[in-house]
Amino acid sequence: QFHMIKYKDLKWEESLGQGSFTRIFKGSKTDVHDGEKHVTEVLLKELDVVHKNCWESFFEAASLMSQISHKHLLLVYGVSVHGVKNIMVQEFVKYGALDLYLKRGRSVSVSWKLDVAKQLASALNFLEEKNIVHGNICTKNLLLAREGDTSQGSSPFVKLSDPGVSVTMLGKDVILDRIPWVAPEVLEAPENLTMECDKWSFGATVWEIFNNGNAPLRGWDLKRKRQFYESFQQLPPSQWTELADLISQCMEYQSAFRPSCRSIIRQLNSLITSDYVILHATEPVTQ
Ligand code: ATP
Ligand code: MG
Repeated sequence: QFHMIKYKDLKWEESLGQGSFTRIFKGSKTDVHDGEKHVTEVLLKELDVVHKNCWESFFEAASLMSQISHKHLLLVYGVSVHGVKNIMVQEFVKYGALDLYLKRGRSVSVSWKLDVAKQLASALNFLEEKNIVHGNICTKNLLLAREGDTSQGSSPFVKLSDPGVSVTMLGKDVILDRIPWVAPEVLEAPENLTMECDKWSFGATVWEIFNNGNAPLRGWDLKRKRQFYESFQQLPPSQWTELADLISQCMEYQSAFRPSCRSIIRQLNSLITSDYVILHATEPVTQ
């Protein structure tokens, strides 16, 4: 169930790179309301033609995002089909992916990062209440709509992007490469994606945010990544004990023991009240 957008109403601009089975472009779409033309900036996500067999899964992601509405979930306007081309048309988010933003070296405060984690947790809570599994939560899929400025007391604002092609359609290597965001149980049975899997991914994402967008296990080959899970390892803990504790609860190998979203939110809220910790927080150990 989604809105079909006419291909001729789309304008393509510069390329923004590639995703899993996709090519990403900036662009715009034109609508006519009561004889008046409206032009909206959009992001165009085109499914690679070689992976066109994944179109159903790709459009399912589009459909999921257009059926639900939450301030921290990305808006999907619809899809467009043109010959062999399958395109998802979505909201263009000004500052792009959060991992790149953080890696560019913009210095942000601990409370800024905490705000982002809370916003993601509220999106996750919304999905949990609706019984919806996302399946691809990571810092790359958090888009920064507003930078915020700690000195002015204004917060950042993030939106969780669509999950893209489902893990059930991805090759084993693509899944292995998603270690440590992908929950360990997904490696054995990608079709058994649950909300608990999203909790694990949330933990890895929070780790990544507090490490300034540096991907956990960056540069590891797939064999080493697989061994990481096979030997039940954990990411290096943050020196901020309460944060490290929350991350390790989420990244619990036994999925049933991962916390509820309510508990995650409660723990995040209790972090901010400890001003001493915020002032003296040190970054977690990097690889
Ligand atoms: P995946 O399904 O693995 O997430 P994808 O197709 O979503 O793949 P990404 O790698 O997530 O592709 O996105 C590629 C790049 O496009 C991002 O790094 C980001 O800079 C940019 N981007 C993605 N979505 C948006 C958006 N809605 N607004 C602005 N920039 C975006
Ligand atoms: Mg993405």
